[in-house]
Amino acid sequence: MNDFNVNRIREDFPILHRKIRGRQLVYFDNAATSQKPLSVIETVSNYYKTLNSNVHRGVHFLSDEATNKYEEAREKVRSFINASSVNEIIFVRGTTEAINLIATSYGNSKISRDDEIIISALEHHSNIVPWQMLCERTGAKLKVIPINDKGEILFDEFEKLITEKTKLISVIHISNALGTINPIKEIIEKAHSRNIPVLIDGAQSTQHCRIDVKELDCDFFAFSGHKIFGPTGIGVLYGKEKLLDEMPPYHGGGEMIESVSFEKTIYNKLPYKFEAGTPDISGPIGLASAIDYINKIGIDNISNYENKLLEYGTTELMKIGDLRIIGTAENKASVISFLAGNLHPYDVGTILDHQGIAIRTGHHCAEPLMKRLGISGTARVSFAFYNTKEEIDLFITALRKAIKMLK
Ligand code: PMP
Repeated sequence: MNDFNVNRIREDFPILHRKIRGRQLVYFDNAATSQKPLSVIETVSNYYKTLNSNVHRGVHFLSDEATNKYEEAREKVRSFINASSVNEIIFVRGTTEAINLIATSYGNSKISRDDEIIISALEHHSNIVPWQMLCERTGAKLKVIPINDKGEILFDEFEKLITEKTKLISVIHISNALGTINPIKEIIEKAHSRNIPVLIDGAQSTQHCRIDVKELDCDFFAFSGHKIFGPTGIGVLYGKEKLLDEMPPYHGGGEMIESVSFEKTIYNKLPYKFEAGTPDISGPIGLASAIDYINKIGIDNISNYENKLLEYGTTELMKIGDLRIIGTAENKASVISFLAGNLHPYDVGTILDHQGIAIRTGHHCAEPLMKRLGISGTARVSFAFYNTKEEIDLFITALRKAIKMLK
């Protein structure tokens, strides 16, 4: 793995050196949010120290500089996901807002009664509820691709769900609850053979693997800055320029207009048409710094290293008797959900927390998925490239102790 040195990398993340309840923090809740390298923290802090001003409207030096940095960040995101143009990069609050934007703007203008939208049984609530709301408004119908017990979508069933009424397919790239990597390229190809646009929820993939929206040929792609080592409150909606151009604005206000009169308002061009009001300015600048950091480490190095952690973590967990891994797809990212005997995940999580180990428990904002699997929730560990095998060992020892205590 060339010069990938996890101990050196860990030095970049101040929070990893915190003690929790007197123990070294082991942070295995990366699917919920990732930690931030010092370079990102300092970029955001420096923005407020040296650059703070409003964008796109000032004649003064600071405003000009802030605008340049804000737009440089857009270019950085464009290059990171290989979009064709900065006009295709819309800054939003996060994946949730990106999907709501599409469900509202694209949905209201292109989807009507009896039309159909397809999602999968693996979806996060963020990729379910906006479509349900759209269906309520329009009378459209939501159809769900079923999965097998391993947590993989059934491609044949997906093909059967497509009809001439299907107007949009919106699927998760990597499952936050199970780690399943969906065959999105095949899904997109199949959808396009029927002229149906596809939105990809990339909240859990952008931090783990290379995203090339041109190669994927997806129509929309959403991700959150806070999951890719950037700040909270900033995310990205990618959309093909032609589609975004045809869509009406999502929010009205300043920035998104060319001119306003009481008789007629002319909307601004892309991407500003979708960025009403003063945007989060430090957010994109911080996100750009996170992208620089990822590029420095190398996304392929990140993938390779995380796959090793996944393999090691899975092997070590499987050595524990009476433990079930939930989500055993062939193609998985570094997320492991599990149930230890019939212990409640919350109890397991609480005892681990007392030993400084942060994991996630519950339904992971995927209640319909949990229902399909016949469980109410799981305990989940999710690894980032700054985690180590030694941390997995600490976790396994702590988990064994928790199981002993709770039995
Ligand atoms: N989709 C998936 C797969 C997620 O994991 C998450 C966050 N847990 C979201 C959507 C929503 O992301 P955000 O809360 O950053 O908007």
